[in-house]
Amino acid sequence: MSETIFNGIGASPGIVIGRVYLLDRKKVVVAGQRIEEVNVKSEVARFKKAVEVSKGQLEDIRKRYTRDLGKSHRYILDTHIMLLEDKMLVEGTVKRIKDVRINSEGALRETIDAIAKKFDAIEDEYLRERKHDVEQVAERVLRNLTGKKQESLAEISEEVIVIAHDLAPSDTLMMRKDKVLGFATEMGSRTSHTAIVARSLGIPAAAGLEKITSSVRTGDVVILDGNHGTVIVDPDEQTFLDYLRRQQRYKYFEAELDKLRDLPAETLDGKRIHLQGNIELPEEVATVARHGGVGIGLYRTEFLFLNRQHLPTEEQHYLAYRDVAERAAPNEVVIRTLDVGGDKLALPDQYEEEPNPALGLRAIRFCLQNRDIFRAQLRGIFRASAHGKIKILYPMISALPELQEIKRLMDDVRSELRAEGVPFDERLEIGVMIEIPSAALTADLLAPEVDFFSIGTNDLIQYTLAIDRTNEHVAFMYEPLEPAVLRLLQRVSHAAHEGKIGLAMCGEMAGDPLYAAILMGLGFEYLSMNVAAIPWVKKVVRSVRMQDAVELADLVMRQPTAVLARQAALSFMHQRFPELMAEI
Ligand code: PEP
Ligand code: MG
Repeated sequence: MSETIFNGIGASPGIVIGRVYLLDRKKVVVAGQRIEEVNVKSEVARFKKAVEVSKGQLEDIRKRYTRDLGKSHRYILDTHIMLLEDKMLVEGTVKRIKDVRINSEGALRETIDAIAKKFDAIEDEYLRERKHDVEQVAERVLRNLTGKKQESLAEISEEVIVIAHDLAPSDTLMMRKDKVLGFATEMGSRTSHTAIVARSLGIPAAAGLEKITSSVRTGDVVILDGNHGTVIVDPDEQTFLDYLRRQQRYKYFEAELDKLRDLPAETLDGKRIHLQGNIELPEEVATVARHGGVGIGLYRTEFLFLNRQHLPTEEQHYLAYRDVAERAAPNEVVIRTLDVGGDKLALPDQYEEEPNPALGLRAIRFCLQNRDIFRAQLRGIFRASAHGKIKILYPMISALPELQEIKRLMDDVRSELRAEGVPFDERLEIGVMIEIPSAALTADLLAPEVDFFSIGTNDLIQYTLAIDRTNEHVAFMYEPLEPAVLRLLQRVSHAAHEGKIGLAMCGEMAGDPLYAAILMGLGFEYLSMNVAAIPWVKKVVRSVRMQDAVELADLVMRQPTAVLARQAALSFMHQRFPELMAEI
């Protein structure tokens, strides 16, 4: 059979060759069968055994998972284990086996359907949502009853390349890095959260590969090139050898970049650029340092809210932020307040389904309407600020009044803490994310109110060009070098410099070595990125003079189209960094 090539988007760099594990989320099909009275007892025993096996599997995952990823993601597993002790589910099924005299599979399916109906009638959306947990747990029991494989990435025991229609951020977090060589999905894009998690775990990934799941089977040999977003199924010999060479060259180059780790990110003429890491878990602080980053420019706190039944308390916020600040000390940590909605997780309280979540009650809008949640987080951050160098960053600011409202709330929090005698950093700096065009256009109005701007290009590009960042059909149009985007960047830079405040970028654009010199030329001194990108960007920083960077930025800014801007940037970069460019 000849090879088949799928082209998508590079979601996380690296080249891997291996066998496919096709993640199939389809429900197990079961046949409900009548059983004889004499067999009831053994059928009940069979069911109970499957429940015990399922419990054992989950406990095992929890053990491994906790060790690999820290305790913050244990909650969903706790919930699922508890469900296996749930009366409605377990005893309900046993009763059905006895009363209706059907086999375990049929009885369990009927029980789940009955439970699902009860859930559907519940007013409270959060509780209603728990239906999925029950279904997932029951699905596991059914798979154990029917001898089907469990579809959990945490349980994969051989080295594989996972191919799936879609993966949730929680799936990617559960992947065992030593077993999952890489993954490829039909959905998603470079800036979807799943891709971001893949990069932070250092797993090569490609996304937006339309219809790939119907063309591969578990066990097929594939090549996954996360640099270019390509997957080749059943490669022929020539391709195989070619990619083996590429893989070796890439590994060699990565090892070379490693040598830069402890060297400063300084241009040839001595200008320091602050290269920082984007993280979602406290455990990642060490990874940033290992890649040569200094401090955390974006700590996405949504992950604190992930996979848990209850919202984090102020104390839990405080402990998590203190942990991050202490790990990062003496370097700074920029903590971004909760950004839910869009392609991110939905909170238990985000009851309503929105027709356009990216334009809906997301991030700061949600927080300002859910003051208790916001206040708990703010108090946690302020309290943690006594233990390290913390800055606060507010996402999705669209106009000045929002910022004024936040500042009033911060004043309240400060007064409360002072009255309670709780220590915090009185000089704690605050910044806003510039990720909505209206904020970029009014940056001069926002600047006097804050200590720094941090540009979130993932959203800024999405909202400027009207391109859904998670939609694979338009992912090819997602272009940081569009004149409209560049002009907004320049405008924000100007406002920051006029207002004498800090200027950072923490969107994915900051981590692409092709853009590093342009951004430096535009006046960015802080670039925060996924950890894997730090050495690449550092290489660029250490190879240029500021004068060159400014000239390149001018040249790129003068181009009337993104295509010409890209050509100009590429030819500059090819001249300066031929080996680097051969790899990216
Ligand atoms: C961004 O929008 O560029 C950003 C950094 O935030 P997030 O990707 O978390 O939306
Ligand atoms: Mg954003």
